Amino acid sequence: RISEDQLRIKEQKQRVGEFMAKIGIMGGTFDPIHYGHLVAAQEAFYQFKLDKIIFMPTGIPPHKKREEVLGARQRYLMTIMATEDNENFEVSDIEVNKNSPSYTVETLRDLKKIYKNTDFYFITGADAILEILAWKKPEEVATLTKFVAVTRPGFALDEFRSSIKSMNPAPELLEIEAPALATSSTDIRKRVKEDRTIRYLLPDKVWRYIYNKGLYR
Ligand code: NAP
Repeated sequence: RISEDQLRIKEQKQRVGEFMAKIGIMGGTFDPIHYGHLVAAQEAFYQFKLDKIIFMPTGIPPHKKREEVLGARQRYLMTIMATEDNENFEVSDIEVNKNSPSYTVETLRDLKKIYKNTDFYFITGADAILEILAWKKPEEVATLTKFVAVTRPGFALDEFRSSIKSMNPAPELLEIEAPALATSSTDIRKRVKEDRTIRYLLPDKVWRYIYNKGLYR
């Protein structure tokens, strides 16, 4: 861990442009958050030597029907519960506070205003990244951030890499493999519905919250 003094010097250098901070933005619906997401974020933090990771639960996902997704406030709360014991993780409410769909380009524009001299690493599932050509303003997104695709073992991105070469600018695409991503939010929701256990797939506080509130029944 770095000391208060070191942190102050770093922030000063960052303000005057002598130091580029590296922040991971962990984007996802997190319905609910599980160990697969946490392992991936931790892996990205170490692999790319990031300064911190900001979890960004989507408010209204642009590509999903609203009634299929749990309310933003509860997904946001569960994300806080899952990350609060890690000093390198934060949770942002930028997207959950919006009444309009969460477009990544808008979130990144907002973050750029807050964080000067910072390189962003937008971390999300490889399946979601395969769709970036259909996102709002994909080429602008590519100027605002690098992408980190979280892949499951055996998942290949080669074909996709060649398809994005034609974008101008072409997005910078990094990759991390997350073995724990065998767990999925879909599987957790299904298990709850079928009255099967979800313990050890996600942090204790989160599964207790799910049961206490009767979510996903
Ligand atoms: P999704 O379609 O629900 O997820 C696709 C796959 O990626 C699922 O297997 C999912 O597993 C996994 N995944 C999602 N987030 C992950 C993460 N942070 N780390 C590891 N795996 C992850 O995707 P989504 O969650 O709705 O969207 C992902 C991100 O892309 C969000 O930040 C969203 O705002 C952004 N996005 C933007 C646009 C746009 O700007 N137009 C359009 C689509 C998505 P789990 O189900 O287990 O999480």
